[in-house]
Amino acid sequence: MNKILEILFPSDLKCIFCDEELDGTTSNSTCASCYKTLPFIKSFCPRCGVSLSDNEEGVCFNCKNTNYNFNKARAVFDYSGDVLKVVHKFKYAMLKDLSKPLAGFMCDTFVLADLEADVVCSVPLHANRMKERKFNQSELLAKVLADKFKLPYVELCVKVKENSSQTSLDFKSRRENVKDVYAVNKDCKKLIKGKTVLVVDDIFTTGATCNEIARILKLAGAKDVNVFTLAHTPAPNRTPNS
Ligand SMILES: [Zn+2]
Ligand SMILES: [Zn+2]
Repeated sequence: MNKILEILFPSDLKCIFCDEELDGTTSNSTCASCYKTLPFIKSFCPRCGVSLSDNEEGVCFNCKNTNYNFNKARAVFDYSGDVLKVVHKFKYAMLKDLSKPLAGFMCDTFVLADLEADVVCSVPLHANRMKERKFNQSELLAKVLADKFKLPYVELCVKVKENSSQTSLDFKSRRENVKDVYAVNKDCKKLIKGKTVLVVDDIFTTGATCNEIARILKLAGAKDVNVFTLAHTPAPNRTPNS
């Protein structure tokens, strides 16, 4: 049914940000005028990938006081404006078709992001949550990226415990809330040992989830863990893209 609908009403004929008809000259289902206004991250913290303002240099304020288990994280966009709206549609209204154009932006940025990877995985959902949601948005993004760059995609981790939503929690509570809720998939230990793993997620907020995933991957022998997300929540002390 979905295939028939896709042929009759191709979803990439309209801009995912403004719904304008596309003329076929643009990529990632985005019209030229929306593309110009998207909050691409141009200068960023070399550690966590948060966008920096023009007068900032080096690691961000947070990274001066925080240790992460991953080596470096990068993101395509500031999580703001139209990107925030579209990601909400993708994640909460569960418009699965948005995965392709959104992953397209990740593919466009991946080479510039300079992230080494032997194997790609995503942040898993708990089995109960997966049943409710029908798809894992991070997995969809990760698979498109892995496919494009001919890297193996493997579900290296599973979510073994259900925890409360991270949304309303502060930095410290987020780290507590994700502790020991993930585990390395036992069949995957050989794929992890000595390898550089790329963890893909949709949004980097405080990095608590990716940090915990990186911790268990390193415990399982991963050489390096890098993180790549579609968007990164801007630091609270600045307006995005300023
Ligand atoms: Zn548009
Ligand atoms: Zn940082």
